[in-house]
Amino acid sequence: MTQVAETVGAKQPVARPKTAVLIEQKLYLDRYKVDEVSHLWIIDRETCLKCRDKPCIITCPANVYDWEEEKITVAYDNCVECGACRIVCPYQNIGWRYPRWGLGIAHRYG
Ligand code: SF4
Ligand code: SF4
Repeated sequence: MTQVAETVGAKQPVARPKTAVLIEQKLYLDRYKVDEVSHLWIIDRETCLKCRDKPCIITCPANVYDWEEEKITVAYDNCVECGACRIVCPYQNIGWRYPRWGLGIAHRYG
């Protein structure tokens, strides 16, 4: 009985959606002109420490966010500018603006 309780309470690794491979195939069609200045940023990194579920990590379709050595990392050059991370962040802790001079992603469909 104790063994089951420990298993249920154990911290599970963040699971990526099963559609991840399909999304990555679609992302391969897109083209990026990466700005040297990030168009998104974490407003207060201390806030991320108290964010229990870190929904930005599992929501972002481009795997921009990750959690390494007790801090959030932001690979902004992968961003597809969908805006989902700002919607799911429970602390409104993500700053975002359009990339400068038309830089950023160009979507292709197919
Ligand atoms: S969801 Fe917001 S507060 Fe939580 S880890 Fe991500 S950026 Fe930080
Ligand atoms: S805007 Fe979309 S692609 Fe860019 S970091 Fe946020 S969730 Fe990821």
